Amino acid sequence: MALIDFKCKECGEEFFEIVKNEDENITCPKCSSDKVERIYKGKFYGKGGSCSGSCSGCSGCH
Ligand SMILES: [Zn+2]
Repeated sequence: MALIDFKCKECGEEFFEIVKNEDENITCPKCSSDKVERIYKGKFYGKGGSCSGSCSGCSGCH
C-alpha cells in the first residue's frame, strides 16, 4: 500500500489516495473524472513539521 498524490486534469483538484495496487483506477473526488495524473510533491515525507497531510484545510499548509 502506498499513499500517492494525484492531480485531476479536468478540474485541477489535488488529492491523495491510499492505493493497494498502482493499476487501481483512481477518480477525482471532486468531479469524478478518471483523468488524473500522479504527482510527486513529497509533502508527506519532507521536513513539513507535524502536518501529516491530512489536517483540516491541509491544501494551504505547504
Ligand atoms: Zn476533478
